[in-house]
Amino acid sequence: MSDPLTSAVAGSAPLGIFGGTFDPVHYGHLRLAEEAVLQLGLGGVRWIPAGQPPHRGTPQVSGEQRLAMVLRSTAGNPHFSVDPAEVLAAAPSYTVHTLERLRAELGAAQPLVLLVGADAFAGLDRWHRWRDLLALAHLAVSHRPGFPIAAESLGPDLAEVFAGCHNADPAVLAQAPAGRIVSFAMTQLAISATQIRKLLANGLSARYLLPDVALDYIQTHQLYRSL
Ligand code: ATP
Repeated sequence: MSDPLTSAVAGSAPLGIFGGTFDPVHYGHLRLAEEAVLQLGLGGVRWIPAGQPPHRGTPQVSGEQRLAMVLRSTAGNPHFSVDPAEVLAAAPSYTVHTLERLRAELGAAQPLVLLVGADAFAGLDRWHRWRDLLALAHLAVSHRPGFPIAAESLGPDLAEVFAGCHNADPAVLAQAPAGRIVSFAMTQLAISATQIRKLLANGLSARYLLPDVALDYIQTHQLYRSL
């Protein structure tokens, strides 16, 4: 087997993989993906809304509705594509399975970069087969208000992996298909889907926290009327 740290495909820009519940999608997500393209030199970002996320409670609205909001909100950005596979799958979505599917689809040499916010990264050691993730992809961790990216805030096993794989230079992402961890300082936006759901359930405005196309969809389909 080829060494994943030395066998990136020549000339193929790293592809960002951005999973999330997106319940609903908001500007924190969109800036994360946009700034990841700019700061990490990604060829694009593939958005993958989760179907039945195994790490958390059932999302408020259906997978199809969350997918529809992501499709509308990312439309027109040539760097973004949306992958419906997890929403369409009957089984729970595990990121490791999605990355295995993408590896099979894109080949062993394509650099893949799993994009996660600092809060999601801090809980990575609870994900299914989490150690295998770095054999399949790099990790790029975005700063998020209230969630420091520091070894002290990680569990011991994850802190060790972080120390061993972290690299300050995003150029490493293009030099190998998988195995590195970088962090990037995106514009800090203290927006969360939880906050948006609360505002909407209380009949308050969520305008300017998420794209109008997503808000229009929410209003048309009368979503998030209660918590
Ligand atoms: P919830 O409030 O329902 O937990 P959320 O706003 O965190 O949702 P998710 O769909 O769970 O949204 O997040 C998908 C990914 O985007 C995660 O990796 C998360 O860390 C990241 N993310 C979400 N909001 C932000 C933000 N404001 N800044 C940086 N990263 C974010």
